[in-house]
Amino acid sequence: TRVTLLAGGVGGAKMAEGLAALPGVDLTVIGNVADDDEFHGLWVSPDIDTLSYSLAGLIDRRQGWGVADEGHRALEVLARLGQDCWMSLGDRDFGLHIWRTMRRMRGDRPSVIAADAARALGVGPRIVLPTDDRVQTRVRTDAGWLSFQEYFVREKCAPEIRELRLDGIEAARPTPEALAAIAEAEAIVIAPSNPLVSIAPILAVLGIAEGLRQARVPRIAVSPFIAGKVVKGPADRMMAALGLRADAVGVAERYAGLADVLVIDDLDSAHSAAIAARGLHPECRPILMRDQGDKQRLAAEVLEIARMLA
Ligand code: GDP
Ligand code: CA
Repeated sequence: TRVTLLAGGVGGAKMAEGLAALPGVDLTVIGNVADDDEFHGLWVSPDIDTLSYSLAGLIDRRQGWGVADEGHRALEVLARLGQDCWMSLGDRDFGLHIWRTMRRMRGDRPSVIAADAARALGVGPRIVLPTDDRVQTRVRTDAGWLSFQEYFVREKCAPEIRELRLDGIEAARPTPEALAAIAEAEAIVIAPSNPLVSIAPILAVLGIAEGLRQARVPRIAVSPFIAGKVVKGPADRMMAALGLRADAVGVAERYAGLADVLVIDDLDSAHSAAIAARGLHPECRPILMRDQGDKQRLAAEVLEIARMLA
């Protein structure tokens, strides 16, 4: 089965690992580049790297991002040299950022670089970028405009959010790989990623949301909310701050017309009627992924739902 997954970082990578482990699944992951940023002259692509490191088995399982068995000697030197080092970048991680930056300076397409990196690290599924153009999430807060990493890592989500903007989105052209991944999919899955800063920047690229809207294959989204709370990260606070419902119903509102089913947790079953009223069919399952067994179980359930819809 050709499955296309829209995914951010940590939540997206968990879903990707589950799907990748199922027999008979040919997985393509469309990742998020709107969290990309430059540090110490290097191009860092946090969500794409979380996907690659997870699918290659290199990820630090404890924190869910970064490489396991990592050192921070390079960062120590940068700090001594007076560089601002709030973004934690490990020594092995730096190797990838150096290589990515070198390839970008040579003029290679970012999606070709991401695909080559994934292959070299031993990733099985295809990792596709929605666009090769520069798109960046900007967060307007009571402390001014910040990049997503500044808001999330440096400020630890403390400032109050007023507005989200996606810089560069008007000029961003979709990659042919992303459009093909949607057009040729036999099932489309939206991972339990942050709807506003992980999934929205993928959907906002010209032709991608339209491709989902027109797809005649099962489209299944998984909620990042469990028991009314996010597992991790600022999605709930962001949604509330922007006047959206910060629960599974709010997720359904974001994905109306783009997904047929929203998989929610058994603990959120009280939202079923409200989700159905938004045009998505609710399916209740255990959706917390603590380990590889959970990931595979949920992925198998998602494919089973797809089979029922097909
Ligand atoms: P980021 O780019 O690293 O922030 O990662 P994503 O956007 O892909 O994922 C963040 C979202 O994943 C958060 O809103 C979490 O609630 C959600 N999440 C993390 N782990 C799980 C899990 O095990 N199950 C579900 N359903 N959601 C999860
Ligand atoms: Ca992210």
